[in-house]
Amino acid sequence: MLVLGLLSVIVAVQAAWIDASPAPSSKPLAVTAVIAPPYVWECSGQPLPENCISASFDGNTTHVKGFLVDLLKKLAEKGNFRYEVHLRKDGRYGYKDPNSASGWTGMIGELIKNEADLALAPFTVTDERTEVVSFTTPFSEQIGLSVLLKKPISTQSSTCVFCTKEKMMIPFSNEDDLSMQAAIKYGVLAGGSVYRFFQNSQVDPYKKMWSFMSAHPEKSFVNNTKDGIDRVRTSQGRFAFIMEKPAVHFVSSQIPCDTVAIDFDRKDYNTKGYSLALPVGSAWTETLSRLIDELQTNGSIVAMYDQWWKSTECV
Ligand code: ASP
Repeated sequence: MLVLGLLSVIVAVQAAWIDASPAPSSKPLAVTAVIAPPYVWECSGQPLPENCISASFDGNTTHVKGFLVDLLKKLAEKGNFRYEVHLRKDGRYGYKDPNSASGWTGMIGELIKNEADLALAPFTVTDERTEVVSFTTPFSEQIGLSVLLKKPISTQSSTCVFCTKEKMMIPFSNEDDLSMQAAIKYGVLAGGSVYRFFQNSQVDPYKKMWSFMSAHPEKSFVNNTKDGIDRVRTSQGRFAFIMEKPAVHFVSSQIPCDTVAIDFDRKDYNTKGYSLALPVGSAWTETLSRLIDELQTNGSIVAMYDQWWKSTECV
């Protein structure tokens, strides 16, 4: 009897929990996104790979794939919603900027103005962002920084089996080395949490690196991740792009195998992980968090990581 009573309480609580989800709506969720390898990444080829979805971009239709596209599909299926994705041309995540209408730039600004229902990006959860948007439970923990650099010419082969950092003659091995030289310029994505980290930093080497980058903003701050990667590839080793580790490690494992990842040694870029972002008060935050938790528990998220990061195209 007691067991039955307990069971009915559990069922009632569960039903209330499910009822708390937003009602399935006929209106698709407006999803804002930026290119972020391999979370939201370009689709190419004819026919397009089947894991691609369409997204609007600057008045046209384009296609994207990636870890977060896979996650969005799973969330939509489980959460019973439809979505329409638009890619921001400026590639901005968002940071506090008194000159912009909502006080924030990028996707954060869109969420504040309720122009988007969900931001599909590896959003670094920071205290200042937490005050103005609502974050789901993280789908990834603790992230560090890393540098993407073009491989020195002599070893630019995808079959370079014995390549070690020394043999490739990588000109620096950590952030301290990088900060103490001027031959290789370096930069970050404008308006993201990495940019904000350097801007706010009061200690070296980051403070020094910020002075260097902000003295040549047009050479250091790129408008979107793809531009930064292209600049690394085309500037013959004279430009290094600092990003969060997962992106650098993914890019350096992809064809044409012409880049390397050099991780920062220090752990000062101490973050609370990656989450999806929604407007404050959105009824979807709780539902998506619950679904992300479920996907963590049943191993789906780990399987998705393995699929995107363990399939290196370079030896
Ligand atoms: N994940 C970062 C952000 O949330 C992007 C970056 O700064 O590179 O802004």
